[in-house]
Amino acid sequence: MKALPKIVDSGGGFFIEEEAAEEKTVENIVHEPGPVLEFDYLFCEECGKDFMDSYLSNHFDLAVCDACRDSDEKHKLITRTEAKKEYLLKDCDIDQREPVLKYILKKNPHNSHWGDMKLYLKLQIVKRSLEVWGTEEALEEAKEERQDNRDKVKQKKFDKKVKGK
Ligand SMILES: [Zn+2]
Repeated sequence: MKALPKIVDSGGGFFIEEEAAEEKTVENIVHEPGPVLEFDYLFCEECGKDFMDSYLSNHFDLAVCDACRDSDEKHKLITRTEAKKEYLLKDCDIDQREPVLKYILKKNPHNSHWGDMKLYLKLQIVKRSLEVWGTEEALEEAKEERQDNRDKVKQKKFDKKVKGK
């Protein structure tokens, strides 16, 4: 006598349920268009209050009001050079990935003839770097690897010099 084929795998049941739930979510998104309101004000990410405009929203599209702006720590600016070196970002990561990172121009304090410096919001650079590298560890590893390669190239050059005639 064969066993009746009525035993339902509980794992399968779970998946079916999950799928149904997912479908519902998609449906909700499709059938409920978001509010198409023109906002003339923003809500500050830090204090939650509404505001019309601020330094950070104007220059960096960051919804933080002036009262909450912390230019020494949280909303620190870094130069493009630093951003590329410290967070291993390429030009395309900064200029082409969406959303394109905003910057402000500042006269170079060392020499006005060197042209303007591009300053970025550090937290946006860090965020972008994590998008590119995945995790902080991956970024650190990549940085170490680069340093290793640089050291190896140096060593090679040195060896050549010592050995070569
Ligand atoms: Zn605020």
